[in-house]
Amino acid sequence: MRFPVYFPDATRAVIRSLDSQDLQKVGIEGIILNPYHLASQPGINVIKKLQGIKEYMSWKGFAITDSGGWQLLSLVYKNPKFGKINDQGVVFYKDSLGKNKKYVFTPEKSIQNQLDIGADIIICLDDCPGKNASKKEIITSVNRTILWAKRCKTEYLKQLQKRTETRPLYDPYDSRKRPLLLAVVQGGSNKKLRARCAKALAEIGFDAYGWGGWTANAKGGLNIDIGKFIVSQLPKDKPKFALGVGYPWDIIEGVKAGYHIFDCVIPTREARHKRLYVWEKDPNKINPLKTNSRKLFRYFYPDKGKYASDKKPVDKYCDCLLCQDYSRAYLHHLFKIKDSLSWRLATIHNLRVYAKLIEILRKNVK
Ligand SMILES: [Zn+2]
Repeated sequence: MRFPVYFPDATRAVIRSLDSQDLQKVGIEGIILNPYHLASQPGINVIKKLQGIKEYMSWKGFAITDSGGWQLLSLVYKNPKFGKINDQGVVFYKDSLGKNKKYVFTPEKSIQNQLDIGADIIICLDDCPGKNASKKEIITSVNRTILWAKRCKTEYLKQLQKRTETRPLYDPYDSRKRPLLLAVVQGGSNKKLRARCAKALAEIGFDAYGWGGWTANAKGGLNIDIGKFIVSQLPKDKPKFALGVGYPWDIIEGVKAGYHIFDCVIPTREARHKRLYVWEKDPNKINPLKTNSRKLFRYFYPDKGKYASDKKPVDKYCDCLLCQDYSRAYLHHLFKIKDSLSWRLATIHNLRVYAKLIEILRKNVK
């Protein structure tokens, strides 16, 4: 795997309105998937039976599975009707489609599921506390995250022994023919707790580490101070993953802070909501690490009336399908009539902006 790298969220084994070939043409090298959602539909057994997620989706790139720590927060912590959490693991009372069905996610089960799905990087189950969690709740989250990481590592080693016959990890850049195991650092905005979590995880030993929990500060921007601090507490030679980060300018700041891997729903979701990123300058002529990251992009809103007969491309610096072959006027029309092609072309464009950003970051990162 080459760094930095950005992975769009194919939570349910699809980036809405795009197929795997579209992603490859855009220059996307990997996707991130979610075992909780996949367990609900189509079911982990179905994916296993069909030789793993890459075969299932006809996907030739990298795949990461996120253990589901974020789902603990977004579903169970917000609404106890969704399930319960204790040191043993998580029990969900509903599937991701809202049907009453019980799912038990222990650290062990989480590792087995992720290996069955067949990703290149799998993530230890972690306990992600709420945005306004008390110090006591953050301490519980850190203790549980460390405990679960230990159990995940033990199960991972056990499963590797058992599964030597299964399809090995595909990674032309990595000689280790096994999925990599990543652990997530929790601790909220408390540096002492972040340091304790990072140190304990590094002692257990993982292939990569993640910045977990809320990455935003009180103003909604990236909390880069905590992000940098976490990097300083982790082994220097291991890749760092900024989970859920972020806007294009956040990715630039994340790279400066020492992160290598990024994933985010932002470009695909924003594309469907008619917010497209446009380069302010020719990306081939800039070093994003030495430019004000906030000034590299502006938003383009295709539904504005002034674009109804605008012949120009959305972005004169972009080489995507939308910008090369179609006008602002045509995209405006597609959104007006709510045709699904509007989603496809807008998503292709936003993902191309991210892929191009990664390309120029790689040229400039030492
Ligand atoms: Zn474009």
